[in-house]
Amino acid sequence: MFSKILIANRGEIACRVAATARRMGIRTVAVYSDADAAAKHVAACDEAVRLGPAPARESYLRGELIIAAAKATGAQAIHPGYGFLSENEDFAQACADAGIVFIGPPPSAIRAMGSKSEAKALMEQAHVPLVPGYHGADQSTALLKAHADRIGYPVLIKASAGGGGKGMRIVARAEDFDAALASCQREAAASFGDDRVLVEKYLQRPRHIEIQVFADTHGNCVYLFERDCSVQRRHQKVIEEAPAPGMTAARRRAMGEAAVAAAKAVGYVGAGTVEFIAEADEHGTAGTFYFMEMNTRLQVEHPVTEMITGFDLVEWQLRVANGERLPALQNDLAIHGHAIEVRVYAENPDKGFLPAIGRLSHLALPAHVAFMRNADGVRAHDPAPVRIDSGVRQGDAISPHYDPMIAKLIVWGEDRAQALARLAAALADVHIVGVANNVDFLARLVDNPRFAQAQLDTGLIEHESARLFAAEAVVSNDVLALACARLVVDETAAETNDPWSLARGWRLNTTYTRDIVFKSERGVHDVDLEYTRDGYVFHHGALHAPLAIVAAQGTRLEVRFADRAFAADVVRDRDDLHVFANGRHRVVTLVDVIAHAGESELENGGLAAPMPGRVIAIHVARGARVTKGTPLLVMEAMKMEHTIIAPADGTVDDFLYGVGEQVAEGAALVAFTRSQ
Ligand code: ADP
Ligand code: ADP
Ligand code: MG
Repeated sequence: MFSKILIANRGEIACRVAATARRMGIRTVAVYSDADAAAKHVAACDEAVRLGPAPARESYLRGELIIAAAKATGAQAIHPGYGFLSENEDFAQACADAGIVFIGPPPSAIRAMGSKSEAKALMEQAHVPLVPGYHGADQSTALLKAHADRIGYPVLIKASAGGGGKGMRIVARAEDFDAALASCQREAAASFGDDRVLVEKYLQRPRHIEIQVFADTHGNCVYLFERDCSVQRRHQKVIEEAPAPGMTAARRRAMGEAAVAAAKAVGYVGAGTVEFIAEADEHGTAGTFYFMEMNTRLQVEHPVTEMITGFDLVEWQLRVANGERLPALQNDLAIHGHAIEVRVYAENPDKGFLPAIGRLSHLALPAHVAFMRNADGVRAHDPAPVRIDSGVRQGDAISPHYDPMIAKLIVWGEDRAQALARLAAALADVHIVGVANNVDFLARLVDNPRFAQAQLDTGLIEHESARLFAAEAVVSNDVLALACARLVVDETAAETNDPWSLARGWRLNTTYTRDIVFKSERGVHDVDLEYTRDGYVFHHGALHAPLAIVAAQGTRLEVRFADRAFAADVVRDRDDLHVFANGRHRVVTLVDVIAHAGESELENGGLAAPMPGRVIAIHVARGARVTKGTPLLVMEAMKMEHTIIAPADGTVDDFLYGVGEQVAEGAALVAFTRSQ
């Protein structure tokens, strides 16, 4: 076996490969860009080599620098991970030329599967079923159009060189064909430097089912069953599971054998995935299936296959690259239980899944429970197997340079129902502050009845959008009480030396009521927190309930509130209080001190500006009767917005400045009369 390998990647996959290498006693070399000098994957390896500046073109895609790093460190093989250079035949060839083992298929197999059109032509010869379509060399518009007419609309035009859903155009009617073709060709030329296209029948609400294959250099090739990756957004996977629900043994064998035929047709070696598109029949079982493409590398979602087979696929890759035989043959392989993976992304599900960037100011993940076949072939999965593959740590940044995946969460169960229940529980323990993310969206997806009942197709997210993107529910008193609890716990911890601190008011044997104002997407929440001998009384609207803090440890708070005891994690990030309770993440913002400063001005009949700034919005009319907490106007000062709120129920007699006007420090802003 190799004594040292270089991992030509970053993030979770680099960490994941390093973990297996370490277990096998193989030393590892990381490579990194300037953005990643302190990244987790660098720490996960035994040594590391700098490649260059942050952009991938100047670092992770510099094959010659990576090969030089392997030579300089004495690495005998290079694992490319996924993405970057993993499907680059020139890089695979350059490794071979430099006498370094490329842990992947031979360059000829990468080439054969690199073009979707050529791959389809090869598959046709190997009798692998194809989506009805045209993938020939003649690219004249008239001919492509004639094929589209023959196939029947809707059709899908794809870039032959494509990937990541780029260039794909759905054409619903013959008269739209020419324009869609031109636009696909433009995008393909711009993205891949190759404007060739293929035309396929566009299947309505199909399932994406793929087969994991593995081949060695001794002529063995097996399939490690299927993964269902139908839950997608923008033609990209969000949830993957194995086995595929509704799969019959006969269908599994037919697809597995078709995938093995595909691999053999290109002389495949190593780990690969053959992607199929399947028409779901009326029972939800996978019906007719067609070859879509082959990915000649380890796939992002390989962990679900590891969980149901009990094998470590990276170990297999290393053994095959070392010239060994496959660790198991087809008859040795069986499916145990059910596994599901969700991809936690830095993105905004509510804004079209737009990627997000930022610093992970707080990152808590469920405990990782190791799950692999050990030397005796015994599977250890007690307690519930939960696997986290992540390439980031708290404090790390999600940058615009690379993929915005934060982590993969993978769970295993005896059956799908148990796996789903464990997934929901584990997802509730994923707490992220600082970067917009899809955790709450995933929780809603996992809860969704259609998903729970395995009515899978690639349109699921779109079809269920009314439920998945439901407007935020009201902010509950539990959430507000937990936010108050975090405030007072932090204050008590911070002010141990100040005997007059308000947080300790009860010790002076007096009661004190504190006005705490939060805002959220649902408006303003005005809480009165009464400090008493025995703890606190929480007043909000009609609710008046005792609040006791039973325990506080790190982010965890245990409270007794309104005759119930419960626990939650509450993280304060500046004025934002992030409440993680019942598997949901809610944020309420403490209304800033300026609003409170205004309060003290009340007695003088106005609200004053505590720093120089400008009025940028007025929210109510002159003469308006308002309730306590109502936003009255917004000031901009020091590049921040500050909302001035009504300090009590009352009447706004006058605004002393108009929108756009500059205000000096201390100037009265509002004439206000408190209700009697
Ligand atoms: P999969 O079907 O496994 O999701 P994709 O073809 O969508 O495969 O891409 C594989 C993975 O590689 C994706 O998760 C993608 O984020 C990652 N990837 C692709 N290109 C890059 C890149 N240039 N930099 C970082 N990651 C990349
Ligand atoms: P990529 O290289 O971007 O991964 P694929 O050919 O694998 O491209 O297709 C990506 C996704 O697009 C599939 O998972 C599926 O959801 C959808 N798709 C592809 N081909 C078809 C088709 N013929 N009909 C309907 N949907 C399709
Ligand atoms: Mg694909």
